[in-house]
Amino acid sequence: MLSLPDFPVRQRDFLLEISRAITAQLDLSEVLRRVLEASVIMIAGRVGVVALHDPKDGSFRVRAYKGIQREQVAALNEKLNAFIKTVSTGIERRHLDQQLKDMAASLNDDLVQAVAMPLVFAENPLGLLIVFRSYEASVTPNDMQILQSFADQAAIAVNNAQMFQRIKQDQQRQAAILQHSADGVIILDADLEILQVNQAFEQMTGWSTENAVGQSLEDVIVWKQLESLDLQDAVAQGWPTRRDQTGAQSDTFYVEGDLLRQDGLTLSVGITYAPLFSQEGKLTNIIGNLRDITNFRRAQEMQNVFISTVSHELRTPVALIKGYASTLMRPDAQWNKEVILNSLQVIEEESDRLTSLIDDLLTASRIQAERGVQLQLSDVSLDHMAANAVERLQLQTDKHRFTVSFPSDFPSVQGDAKLLRQVIENLITNAIKYSPQGGTITVGGRATDEDVTFFVRDEGVGIPERELSRVFSRFYRVDNKWAATTKGTGLGLYLAKAIIEAHGGTINVKSQVNQGSTFFFTIPRD
Ligand code: ADP
Repeated sequence: MLSLPDFPVRQRDFLLEISRAITAQLDLSEVLRRVLEASVIMIAGRVGVVALHDPKDGSFRVRAYKGIQREQVAALNEKLNAFIKTVSTGIERRHLDQQLKDMAASLNDDLVQAVAMPLVFAENPLGLLIVFRSYEASVTPNDMQILQSFADQAAIAVNNAQMFQRIKQDQQRQAAILQHSADGVIILDADLEILQVNQAFEQMTGWSTENAVGQSLEDVIVWKQLESLDLQDAVAQGWPTRRDQTGAQSDTFYVEGDLLRQDGLTLSVGITYAPLFSQEGKLTNIIGNLRDITNFRRAQEMQNVFISTVSHELRTPVALIKGYASTLMRPDAQWNKEVILNSLQVIEEESDRLTSLIDDLLTASRIQAERGVQLQLSDVSLDHMAANAVERLQLQTDKHRFTVSFPSDFPSVQGDAKLLRQVIENLITNAIKYSPQGGTITVGGRATDEDVTFFVRDEGVGIPERELSRVFSRFYRVDNKWAATTKGTGLGLYLAKAIIEAHGGTINVKSQVNQGSTFFFTIPRD
């Protein structure tokens, strides 16, 4: 036992040593070890433990101990939690003392007394410091005050460790978001030097983190073509200027253009830069968010192509109708019956073409808006439908020979008659359009117990292999002289695919350039 005059000096030395350990950021176990050492010596105990509170399940678990064996910890944890439960039921003091005594005795026969002190930081219960003594003596206010001073130090250390843990988790979470974001991210300092980039940035620009970090922005983000001011110019002109009251950074800056990647290729990107300010309002960082806008640009391009094809496709029949109608109406001319009939036939055909084009456009936009096709189901005989279509369409050509080939027991299917007719007519019309030299067009089918397959074969221009998968895309037309000279919008096969898929089926094509193509679809019988 220490003699009385040494007491405050010794206590002060211990506290000093512990607070040094805390400020030196020693790990929590080491700080708690020193706290226990000091507590046990100062109140002349034999054993000491620190148990920490787990806010997730409310339990207490021994985190540091002195004077007991590791094997004893599990049993002690149980007793501790039972004790805490009793405390929280507000039971009488004497019972608690008895429980602490039992806990002491269960650890070691000579332990007869336990002095417990809660670890509290900013009113948060963080744990418990307990010192066990091998003699029973009254616990003086001085003992309590000493223990309190150490418990306070331990609470600071535990709180620091928890805070550090939380910050570390936050950082890990943010790093994971940054690394795995689908957008490229670049973090700059106020002088536009690169501090950090993520994986997507590496992929988009071809710059590795290693090579990019430390470089200045202008060496890494090089534009082949830029459609606005670059960040450097904006900064030179005083960006960012504004900060709203809440301190949120609302003043972003957007740049868009064709980026020259490190490997010399280009990529269309849009970059949104957002400033970060210090508490004093000084610009500390700029965070850039890169988005690959290739698809967006492609869609824009497709839309332009679409508008020009559609206006062309609409204009041609309208011009023909108007031309024939004006001619027929000329007051100075007398037309014989044959001319009149021929002209009216052209007017009728061109009106039909307009109607079917408008139908196609409406169906396409409905498919897009509804993300699918609504079916009106009934029994449909594809073989009859094919025969009718051939009968009608063969009037349009005298170069082609038509063969219709279905087995006699070809079954009917459940389907939308109007839409399936549209598909069949489209496939046969294409077969005619894309075999300008003529040849045989075969329309046929076969059936299994589950499904039916329908095909249209021609001996026309064919489709190059690399284009095969794309002919079913919206507005897509194979880039060859046939597309340039034949009428079309690139919608027919897109619609056919949507319609067949709505029937639970598939559509496909086999083709060889200059040999011909076979388009075929399979749909379930029910
Ligand atoms: P459109 O005929 O209006 O251009 P489609 O969607 O029906 O549109 O067809 C898309 C493209 O697929 C056509 O532009 C054409 O290049 C190609 N294609 C379609 N059918 C055939 C065929 N039977 N033979 C060769 N090419 C075809």
